[in-house]
Amino acid sequence: MGAVLSGCGSQDDAQDKSPKVNAAAKASAAAVTRANLIKTKTAAAAKVKANELGQIPVLMYHRIVDKPGNQDDRTPAQFRTELERLAAEDYVPVTAAEYVTGRMDIPAGKHPVVLTFDDSSPSQFALDGAGAPKANTAVAILQDVAQRHPGFRPVATFYVTRDMFGMTKPEEREQVLLWLAGKGYDIGNHTHDHLSLRGKPEKEVDAEVAKGHKLITSLINAVPVTIALPYGNQPNTKEWALKGSSGGVSYDYGGVFLAGYTPALSPFNKEFDPLGIPRIRSMDKKGDCARFCSVAWLDWLKANADERYTSDGDVKTVAYPKFKAPFMTMRFTDRALPY
Ligand SMILES: [Zn+2]
Repeated sequence: MGAVLSGCGSQDDAQDKSPKVNAAAKASAAAVTRANLIKTKTAAAAKVKANELGQIPVLMYHRIVDKPGNQDDRTPAQFRTELERLAAEDYVPVTAAEYVTGRMDIPAGKHPVVLTFDDSSPSQFALDGAGAPKANTAVAILQDVAQRHPGFRPVATFYVTRDMFGMTKPEEREQVLLWLAGKGYDIGNHTHDHLSLRGKPEKEVDAEVAKGHKLITSLINAVPVTIALPYGNQPNTKEWALKGSSGGVSYDYGGVFLAGYTPALSPFNKEFDPLGIPRIRSMDKKGDCARFCSVAWLDWLKANADERYTSDGDVKTVAYPKFKAPFMTMRFTDRALPY
């Protein structure tokens, strides 16, 4: 037994020497390759002025209707005009789920924009008899603009409630969610009954959020990644909206979205707060919207291009000018690519 063991040992020793040398040579070759790769990547990032710590507009839409009835509604023409502008200014839509998880896979030099739709109104999405989006719904317009502008991804996030695009039958509800999820659209929670969560006890907050969560998971095989709060009202303890459970349903979101009124921080910025992500209402420059809605903020981001998120084209790295390094989050340091 002893002889067998020592025999094995000496054989290993004999074989060990050259693999060790090889391993060292391989490691140094790998280090050189890696250094060269980083050089190439930083040069490419600098060329497009990548700034993946910059700001991102998360646009908030409600109904898309011919005759706007309130300050949240937009007409199909206004919606189309905004999408055309986004495409012309090198924005590429990403979903809220992709944004909060840092998986914004868009080409170098492009800027992410998150399109969000609240309240699941039929004006946002309905299917015709042939299974295509009905004309003039938000989805039909987005699909059409994307077709005319290659690279402009037709994706968005729908924050649904029990209204579920006006569908009442479970089969119809399943049909619309399946269509959206199948095309890469993102379904988020907007609570079941659209009640304000402000001032409510934890139990009620959990119950309302969990009911909204289950509304989605009971219909399709997709777990919502984010929630948008009704009226943008946060519960007394902000964390209650992010994580909790009720009635055997638990939720743990990557982000909670509010209703107003500034561009949002990059998820790679250390000041990014998943408990309260601001959104921008889609509207022309008038009244409060002279400064705080979509047309005003898109003007501002255009005029302040170095404040805006610009992609380096590689979803695995987070590229930014070196002087911005203090703002890089610890959460993603393994992806950092300062230049
Ligand atoms: Zn709402």
